[in-house]
Amino acid sequence: MISHKSTSLICKNFINCQKFSIPLGSSFQHRTYASGEHADLVVIGSGPGGYVAAIKAAQLGMKTVCVEKDPTLGGTCLNVGCIPSKSLLNNSHYWHMAKHNDFAIRGIEFNNLTLNLDKLMSQKVAAVKALTGGIAHLFKQNKVRHIEGHGTITGVNEVVVKKNDGSTESVATKNILIATGSEVMPFSGIEIDEKTVVSSTGALSLSQVPKKMIVIGAGVIGVELGSVWSRLGAEVTLIEFLGNIGGFGIDLEVAKHIQRSLTKQGLKFQLETKVLSAVKEGGGNIKVEAEDMKKKQKLQLDCDVLLVCIGRRPYTQNLGLENVKISLDNKGRVPVNKKFQTSVPNIYAIGDVIEGPMLAHKAEDEGVICVEGMVGGSGHIDYNCVPSVVYTHPEVAWVGKSEEQLKEAGIKYKVGKFPMLANSRSKCNMDTDGFVKVLGDQETDRVLGCHIISSVAGELINEAVLAMEYGASCEDVARVCHAHPTVAEALREAHLAAYCGKPINF
Ligand SMILES: Cc1cc2nc3c(=O)[nH]c(=O)nc-3n(C[C@H](O)[C@H](O)[C@H](O)COP(=O)(O)OP(=O)(O)OC[C@H]3O[C@@H](n4cnc5c(N)ncnc54)[C@H](O)[C@@H]3O)c2cc1C
Repeated sequence: MISHKSTSLICKNFINCQKFSIPLGSSFQHRTYASGEHADLVVIGSGPGGYVAAIKAAQLGMKTVCVEKDPTLGGTCLNVGCIPSKSLLNNSHYWHMAKHNDFAIRGIEFNNLTLNLDKLMSQKVAAVKALTGGIAHLFKQNKVRHIEGHGTITGVNEVVVKKNDGSTESVATKNILIATGSEVMPFSGIEIDEKTVVSSTGALSLSQVPKKMIVIGAGVIGVELGSVWSRLGAEVTLIEFLGNIGGFGIDLEVAKHIQRSLTKQGLKFQLETKVLSAVKEGGGNIKVEAEDMKKKQKLQLDCDVLLVCIGRRPYTQNLGLENVKISLDNKGRVPVNKKFQTSVPNIYAIGDVIEGPMLAHKAEDEGVICVEGMVGGSGHIDYNCVPSVVYTHPEVAWVGKSEEQLKEAGIKYKVGKFPMLANSRSKCNMDTDGFVKVLGDQETDRVLGCHIISSVAGELINEAVLAMEYGASCEDVARVCHAHPTVAEALREAHLAAYCGKPINF
């Protein structure tokens, strides 16, 4: 066992270098796949898992095809997920600042503030268009052949694509990679019309600001989209089955803090509450019946837009898994081993369609490691080092273990905390809501988890991920020189507090 107190960062590079165990340079030649030729790899799905895997495979010299059923590349993430939601979050935040005097107190005053929702939406559309178009360009550049149509696995070495013009093309291939992602989880008895009863997809494109919105589910997506519409003027109530917001894995102290912050911004939360039904009435009203499980009380709520946001489920429709005898697990996921091989060794799967957090960066990393494995690489993913981010204001981000998880595992830990209120840059920016909380191993000082609430938590967390990937101690991070004045200094101070009990500036 390495002592994390004494190992230098350089040593840690060597310990972890196995992760990058195949050449990363361009010593391979790109090979183009032409129609009718044998492919080395057919990737089904072009989300962040599939498109990244296809580009990497081509860079590694494989003749690669990527099959996508939708008219644009990029999957959920680029079309109806990460990208459009972040565009709306960013711009609705500016609106909220302007509307609630956040500019005025900075000396920036203006009259006649109006919201142009169409324009706000068109900026979102432009971001999506640029990024999805960018993938098409990258495919060309890397010589990945893109076939538009629905892919079905018809044999262990064959994918048949039903194209949108009705024709079919059969592609013979050495390997197949399933990257078909996920779809919205339906709520039994509530029919989604994507107009007034919407999933996350419809909530990204409402044509007007609802008066009252109810969100079923206060997980990451529910809280983000609830924030968007609340900032734009809707009265938003989130109904959540669990006792905390932010979903599973969030540190409970952090969950409570962000709930307080969002409540101050106007969002309402109804926790430990189960939605029983939703009925459309006349005049655009939707009646929602729920049960407060703690008080054992029935609740009747009204809204004009209902957002159903209870999670996502793996998508394998008409994929032809039965043709190659691949069975799904009890959650509808494709079971894989550590090399992402299914029960058929040359058929692989990655991303939302397999076990693990449904996150774009997790899908991307799996895609890269998976195709590197096809050419002899032996990389692995440490899922403990996959970060999570909630893009509210302030943002919430974490990596590693929460206090609750450490307690449950019986691991002795110490806590280092630093408030944003004491961070000079946050103070300059008048943006002091939040803190950094570092959990370190009591014996070895190794960083076990990092939890951040800050307007830039989603950026800061990457430093914590890097530290954890390299097995850093709290002292290691505390001794790294950080630029001043930056919000990242709060991260350093929290590590200092975890290491020796005392930060400098608080
Ligand atoms: C509103 C929202 C916000 C989100 N925000 C974030 C975020 O901020 N950060 C983050 O990390 N994650 C976020 N996510 C989750 C993220 O979008 C997913 O984890 C990610 O897209 C999964 O990537 P994937 O490649 O596994 O699948 P997907 O992105 O779902 O892509 C799968 C693709 O496969 C195609 N496909 C399926 N079956 C076939 C077939 N048989 N033939 C051809 N094509 C097929 C689909 O059309 C789709 O394009 C968000 C999700 C939503 C809904």
